[in-house]
Amino acid sequence: IIRWSPFVQVFKKNRYPWIQLAGHQGNFQAGEAGSVLKKLDVREQKCFKEVMEDILRPYVPEYRGDVERSGEMYLQLQDLLCEFDSPCVMDIKMGVRTYLEEELSKARKKPSLRKDMYQKMIEVDPNAPTEEENQQQAITKPRYMQWRDEMSSSVDLAFRIEGIKKSDGASSKDFKKTKGRDKVLETLKSFIGENPEVINKYIQRLRAIRITQESSDFFKRHEVIGSSLLFVHDIAGNANVWIIDFGKTEPIPDGKCIDHRTEWVEGNHEDGYLTGLDNLISVLEEIQGL
Ligand code: ATP
Ligand code: MG
Ligand code: MG
Repeated sequence: IIRWSPFVQVFKKNRYPWIQLAGHQGNFQAGEAGSVLKKLDVREQKCFKEVMEDILRPYVPEYRGDVERSGEMYLQLQDLLCEFDSPCVMDIKMGVRTYLEEELSKARKKPSLRKDMYQKMIEVDPNAPTEEENQQQAITKPRYMQWRDEMSSSVDLAFRIEGIKKSDGASSKDFKKTKGRDKVLETLKSFIGENPEVINKYIQRLRAIRITQESSDFFKRHEVIGSSLLFVHDIAGNANVWIIDFGKTEPIPDGKCIDHRTEWVEGNHEDGYLTGLDNLISVLEEIQGL
């Protein structure tokens, strides 16, 4: 078993350890004080620009323009960790699926077979590939992502835990098979600890996010895939949640809208984001009442 530890890097400029629970390490750099740089992706940049004009603005890291570093372009974003003291951090990936409809139809038209994804699959479950996939020693990307979604809680709860770093240094990205309400509840409970103030703040913030998403123009018009809620709390009882990662947030064609709760069938672009948020809030309320 490979044990993952999240990337903890000390940005010289900031002089505090910065925790990155997902993505490639090279994608992030220190920015100006209180900012972090994320490698620029045009789709994500467009989303940040739009969200800065939307009612969702208070719930995402502030977008502070673009900067160049040794020939590469970066988005300058508010560093969500800088106001916390030895923070506990959790990344929860929202939605019932982690691939765009666009990726699915591209793969169907022009399937490209991935040997690396086949390898990752058999490392976790040697029985997962079909006979044909075993012969090819390769799988398509959407197939790999569908399999990961099913193995985790994405398909049944419409969210999954991507990574956790606690203040005692204990950390894990090994939640690939954390599935089912009970297991997820235990993991969330242990992340929060005996901390009534923190759980109350998390629940209130998530309710505010939900009610805002329900009437956000941006949210209605986008298929929000692979986006996360980033949870941060510390020993002083500070706690907050933000919406991060618009790398796979795509406008719905022809100006159509989705409600983020209707069941996904290919073509309707639904992502199950709000179903996931309903479930997440409900699990946290259960923990609160224990
Ligand atoms: P992936 O698509 O694999 O999830 P990514 O390259 O799109 O990765 P993000 O998901 O945006 O990157 O961020 C990766 C991690 O970096 C997050 O899980 C979080 O720990 C940290 N992070 C991202 N943005 C911020 C921010 N503004 N402030 C503090 N931490 C952040
Ligand atoms: Mg992410
Ligand atoms: Mg991403």
